[in-house]
This record gives sequence, C-alpha cells and structure tokens, in this order.
Amino acid sequence: MHGEVVILGGGLAGLAAGHALAGAGREVAVFERDVEVGGLARTVEHRGQRFDLGGHRLLTDSARVCDLVREVVREPLLQVPRSSKILLRGRYVDYPLRPLNALSGFGPRASLRALGGYLAAQLAHRARPGPLQSLEDWVVRHHGRPMFEMFFRPYSEKVWGLGCGQISADWVAQRIQGLTLGTAIRHALFGAAGAGPRTLTSEFLYPARGIGSIADGLRAAIAAQRGRVHTQSRVTRIVHHAGRIRQVVVRQGGRSASCQANEFISSLPLPALARLLSPAPPPAVLAAATRLRYRDLLLVAVRLARERATDQTWIYVPGQETAFGRLHEPKNWSPQMGTRGETLLVAEHFCSRTDALWRTDDGTLVERCSDELAALGLIARREALDGVVVRVPYAYPAFEIGYRQASAAVTGYLARFANLHVIGRTGAFRYYNMDHAIESGLQAADAILARAAAPGVALPRTGTDA
Ligand SMILES: Cc1cc2nc3c(=O)[nH]c(=O)nc-3n(C[C@H](O)[C@H](O)[C@H](O)COP(=O)(O)OP(=O)(O)OC[C@H]3O[C@@H](n4cnc5c(N)ncnc54)[C@H](O)[C@@H]3O)c2cc1C
Repeated sequence: MHGEVVILGGGLAGLAAGHALAGAGREVAVFERDVEVGGLARTVEHRGQRFDLGGHRLLTDSARVCDLVREVVREPLLQVPRSSKILLRGRYVDYPLRPLNALSGFGPRASLRALGGYLAAQLAHRARPGPLQSLEDWVVRHHGRPMFEMFFRPYSEKVWGLGCGQISADWVAQRIQGLTLGTAIRHALFGAAGAGPRTLTSEFLYPARGIGSIADGLRAAIAAQRGRVHTQSRVTRIVHHAGRIRQVVVRQGGRSASCQANEFISSLPLPALARLLSPAPPPAVLAAATRLRYRDLLLVAVRLARERATDQTWIYVPGQETAFGRLHEPKNWSPQMGTRGETLLVAEHFCSRTDALWRTDDGTLVERCSDELAALGLIARREALDGVVVRVPYAYPAFEIGYRQASAAVTGYLARFANLHVIGRTGAFRYYNMDHAIESGLQAADAILARAAAPGVALPRTGTDA
C-alpha cells in the first residue's frame, strides 16, 4: 500500500485533514479502527431511534469550519435552542443559572448562601490573590464555596472519579470558558451584551439526522475526490528512521499490511501514538505517556414507549442517586432523531475501563438505568421497552495536576519527526470541541500543502529501509 499522506484515525480531525488534502489533489489514505468513521462525534441507530455519543452541539466562530460543515452535510442544519437543567436534590435548576429560577430551585436560604459565598470569594481573592492550581481553587474563586459544594464538587467528582484538588484548573477554565457566577448573573439580568461566554450561547447548529452526518459527509467527499478511507483498520506499529516516519503497519480483518507515505497525520490517542512507535521512544517519554490518562464514557440509551420524556437538551444529575451524570433526549435536538410514539433517553456514565461498571453486562445496565429514570420521575417503569449500551474509550483527556509536563515530554519527543503532524482532541490531549478538532486537521493539511508548494523543497519518497 502507498499513500502520499497517511492519516491515522477517522474522527472529525482526521477526516477534515483528509478532505482538505484530497480536495487539493493529494493521494490520501485514512485508517480508522472502528466499523464507522466519526470517532466521538458518531451517531448510532437503535430500532429506528438515533443518538449521538453524548449530545453534540456545533458552535463555532470559524467561517472555514462552518462552510465545510455546510458543504458536506446533505440534510438541513437546524438551529436548536439550548435548554439545560441541573437536577439538584429532586429539583430542577436552570443551567446556566438564572437568579429567580435558582432562588426557587435552591430555596431562598441556599441562594443567599451562594451569593454570600461568591462575594466572600471575591473579597478573599482581592486580599490574597494567588495562583489557581486545581479545579477546586478555580471554582471557589469564580463561584464561591457554597456553589462548589452544591453542584461543582459532586458533578466534577462524578465526571472524573477524582477529588477536585487533583484536577487541574486548566480543565474547568477551558470547559466553561469564562463562565463565572458573576457573568451568569449579569447575563441573566442584562442579557447577552457582546458575545458572552460560549457556554451561555442559547442556540446551536445541529444536523437533522445527528452529528454523525458531518463525519459521514466528509467521508463521502473524500471518496468522491479519490481519497481512500479504510475502516476496521487498526494501526499497530509506526516505523521511523532518521527523524522521519517511514511506514505504518495496519491490522485489517486478521491480516497485517504496511503502508508507506511522505507525510503522516495522527489523531490517535497521544499515549498510544508514543507506544506504537518503532523503535520505541526513551523510557522517560514512555513513562510520561503513561501519566496521560483519559476518562472513558459508557452510554445507556433506553427506548421508551412515549412521544417525549423531557423538554431539555441536557439534564445534569450531580447526585449519588444515579450512576449516570448527564442525560439527553435526541428528539429534543431534532425530531428526525426518532420515530412517532417512541423516544430515547441517553444516560452518560463517566467511568474508567478498569471499573466494574465498564464490565457489567448490557442487560443489567439497561435495567438499572431504567429503574433510575423511573425513580427520578422522568418515566413510568413500564414505558421502558429496551435499550442499548455503547462503550466509548478515550472520551475525555483527564487534566490531572502534572499533565502539562507529561504532555510536553511526549509532544517534545514527537516534534523530532519532521513529517509527523499531531492533531485532534484525543491526539493532541487537548480539551477540543468539534470545531477545534476540525481546525487542527485543516491546519495540518495547510502545513503539508504549504511545504509542498515552497520552492526548492522536495518531499522525499519513503525508502524501504525501516
Ligand atoms: C460526551 C461528549 C460530548 C461532547 N459534546 C460536544 C459538543 O456538544 N460540542 C462539541 O463541539 N464537541 C463535543 N465533544 C467533543 C468532540 O466529540 C470532539 O472534539 C471531536 O469529536 C474530536 O474529534 P477527533 O477526531 O479529534 O478525535 P476522535 O473522535 O477521538 O477520533 C480519533 C479516532 O481515532 C481512532 N483510533 C484510535 N486508535 C486507533 C488505531 N490504533 N488505529 C486506527 N484508528 C484509531 C478512533 O476510533 C477515533 O475514530 C464531546 C465529546 C464527548 C466525549
């Protein structure tokens, strides 16, 4: 096999790179381990009901990303109003917070405590400004301790399975991008003056048949431009020599084949990329790669005999009364996600592959989740018809304190390979949303095209000496 450019991983980042390169006439081969392309941004079908691997809203400031999505998605792109709630101690509170609603949800005493805690945190920070290292430091500074204890601590500990003092402030700063209790209150009282934090945006774009339509559209466009997208093709070895990647070994249907190329783009999980290199990196780099951990996700989608169960896009459930932390109902995102008279509730269980939950059999998980939905009062137990379980490895890069040094050690080592481009959320170990993942793929394609166009720079064909 040979490809001028080989792309490892067929998620949005890899496919966007493949689309740009194939469109510019480059010979492209994408290798994706799964049966389908799309990675984390896939849509799954279960008995006529469709769901994403956790609801995916598209928000972007990039005209290039927006144009690309509009070009490849062959169905209507809906403008969906965002409506999210936190289920706290049996009551629904709007998220982002609205003062009057929070007052009725938390009750007047807890609301006053939240406000007092917020003001106290502002004064304390002014008196003693210090570095915000952990998630706990960041949230207490920007929301006050009562809000941290009521919502952020239980939710974050459910998401990460770690104490909030062990999670880097980088995560929450990227995740909720400038949202503080102060900005939420200002936004609620005075409306959105200026752009406001992305998290508060009230509408988002969504393909009528699910977020997976973007990846499917990119795949079709790559094929139309004579690029090749190989699914069920797992990269098992990445061979290098003299500062260049020479070839990859790919496992396809029980057989291994090697593929040479001039340029390689990787969106594989960063630690996996380091481990697949042959010859292996120095032990210190491999040790750093082991310190880069991801949180996995287990989805249980329960099919219900009713038209709708909620009117929300997301419901956050921080409490210990459920094993899941977040819910979404795909029909609220697009009516085309389900059929008449039925709907799905999709419950996100944040966990690790080593947890007992990950190994629990699907039937038990569906039963347990249906019981929990009924106990929350969202459904009557008899309405639960059946369900499906999807296990999603590498869902969230875990920004544990110290991750930056580990990530720098790995990416510093990889930088020596002149023809290797590391892209994507899982690939770059960055908390990228879809638009950032797509942009990273487009930028790698730009770099390859610019290099090839530069006068006097010839890209060597790969040898067979590796
Ligand atoms: C629950 C959840 C909700 C989200 N919600 C949103 C949202 O609302 N809005 C938003 O913008 N973003 C959201 N995101 C983020 C979004 O999913 C990602 O930013 C984007 O999909 C990342 O694309 P990627 O190509 O970088 O990575 P991935 O999708 O992880 O792609 C990597 C690909 O590499 C493949 N691979 C791995 N190992 C191998 C191997 N050895 N050989 C071959 N292939 C391999 C994988 O199968 C995968 O397809 C969400 C993510 C999650 C987990």
